[in-house]
Amino acid sequence: MKKLILILGDQLDLDSAALKDINPETDEILMVESANEAQHVWSHKARIVLFLSAMRHFAEYLKSQGFSLAYIQHSPQSIVEELKSKIIKEKFTHLICVEPGEWRLKQLIEALSEELQVVLDMRQDSHFYCTHSEFKEWVADKKELRLEYFYRLMRKNHGILVDQDGNPEGGQWNFDRDNRKPFPKKGPGLIPPPELFEPDAITKTLIAEVEERYPDHPGSLAHFQWPVTRQQALQALEGFVEHRLATFGIYEDAMWTDTPFGWHSLLSSSLNLKLLNPREVINAVVAAWKKEDLEMATVEGFIRQILGWREFVRGMYYLDMPQMALDNFYNHQNRLPAWYWTGDTKMKCMQEAIGQTLEYGYAHHIQRLMVTGNFALLAEILPKEVCDWYLAVYIDAIEWVELPNTAGMALFASGGRFTSKPYIASGAYIKRMSNYCGSCQYKPDIRFGEDACPMTNLYWNFLIQHRTQFEASPRTRLMTANLSRISEADQQAITIHAKGLLGDLNSL
Ligand SMILES: Cc1cc2nc3c(=O)[nH]c(=O)nc-3n(C[C@H](O)[C@H](O)[C@H](O)COP(=O)(O)OP(=O)(O)OC[C@H]3O[C@@H](n4cnc5c(N)ncnc54)[C@H](O)[C@@H]3O)c2cc1C
Ligand code: SF4
Repeated sequence: MKKLILILGDQLDLDSAALKDINPETDEILMVESANEAQHVWSHKARIVLFLSAMRHFAEYLKSQGFSLAYIQHSPQSIVEELKSKIIKEKFTHLICVEPGEWRLKQLIEALSEELQVVLDMRQDSHFYCTHSEFKEWVADKKELRLEYFYRLMRKNHGILVDQDGNPEGGQWNFDRDNRKPFPKKGPGLIPPPELFEPDAITKTLIAEVEERYPDHPGSLAHFQWPVTRQQALQALEGFVEHRLATFGIYEDAMWTDTPFGWHSLLSSSLNLKLLNPREVINAVVAAWKKEDLEMATVEGFIRQILGWREFVRGMYYLDMPQMALDNFYNHQNRLPAWYWTGDTKMKCMQEAIGQTLEYGYAHHIQRLMVTGNFALLAEILPKEVCDWYLAVYIDAIEWVELPNTAGMALFASGGRFTSKPYIASGAYIKRMSNYCGSCQYKPDIRFGEDACPMTNLYWNFLIQHRTQFEASPRTRLMTANLSRISEADQQAITIHAKGLLGDLNSL
């Protein structure tokens, strides 16, 4: 019996199920840096550096623990090709791994083990609260798949923010309504900065390597300060809980120029690489709430993201793949405007959201959902092109979390399979939640004509095109009721203006 343990780049978990019963004397670990993977998904330079640096640091740790590790740098082959040659060359009989997050890779590894007739021991990812089978069980008797009910069940099952009778702490399950404030008119004021980490020798080497090997990839490395080790990730968590959590909730949706991070945690990349366990994040937040008497709205709002959304979208991804990647409910076919890759657009909101994305590999949820995502939906862009963009440009982007958020949530490509309505908004929403419109050449209140805000024009156009769908649901009927207050002549002008925009998105 000869065992090979595969550790993927987003499985840097010291408590990994794959390492549980490892025999350091006889078993070997394989980690592969695949250039092929970096090209398979067109990728922000910071995303490549983050993955590879975290992998190299993890490899150092494994070596320091005396494990036998084969670490392949910059392989021109795919992970599965490397795995195949190693198994054949060194005659491994057993392959152990944690189930990959990415559906495609899981299929490829299963097919390979079949082809080579090795015993595959693919273990559940203990990082998550909800297993795939628990999620399937929850889905089985549901007419509608909605986050809210799944999240309540998770709270109860795991005893998080519930009293001993299973009732929600604070008297309600959901404090969303308290968490939607814009920044004050004068601006966000002084926000304590997130924990940032100066690149060490390993990261500096990688920055140079990535600049040399992937010069054409999007994004900047000038501000690369993401956590790449478990220690740094823990420090980032501590810093967030101590300095930023208290104000996270209230300004969760707010946007402001030159304020790329707001009060957000910036923990997604550490969570997704498994440098941090969601349990330790939630425990730290609950402990701070008990100790410091924090507002329930901020604590609940934060925990909902991790215990609710993060687990829910993972469940949906595995449930609906591979169909989810093909879904295109509205049959949108427009190409992604070239300026999504440069930020070179006259729309201030898009300039800001894309600009900071290219600068840092980061934008917060509302920027992703209600700015870049909202525009992509209103502009009728092909979901595949939008999903490829999201997967490329964010440092936390991994398909299991990116795809359901982009296709399912932002683009309504799955046709309301797990969201109750399309998330669309006009310039009025962006004006309310940010200061972007103040320095934009367009006017958020104007629906057509030279100064018309493209968000606003395309929003009304979308409602006109899909009036029947929106009228059919009580959740969206109010939107079409507003439409009926616009005169027929103005509706026609909106449609004509929109046709012009949709035919020439690159010029915006
Ligand atoms: C179109 C679109 C694409 C997205 N792509 C990704 C992606 O590739 N990777 C990713 O991790 N998140 C993605 N998200 C979710 C969310 O925007 C990011 O998790 C969040 O902005 C990360 O920043 P933060 O760590 O400061 O989060 P915070 O706002 O501080 O939230 C705390 C944590 O909650 C989790 N979380 C919050 N919202 C979600 C959500 N909707 N789904 C899953 N987890 C969530 C994250 O782990 C995050 O770190 C996407 C959202 C949208 C609308
Ligand atoms: S006016 Fe319209 S395009 Fe300009 S920033 Fe506001 S919402 Fe964006």
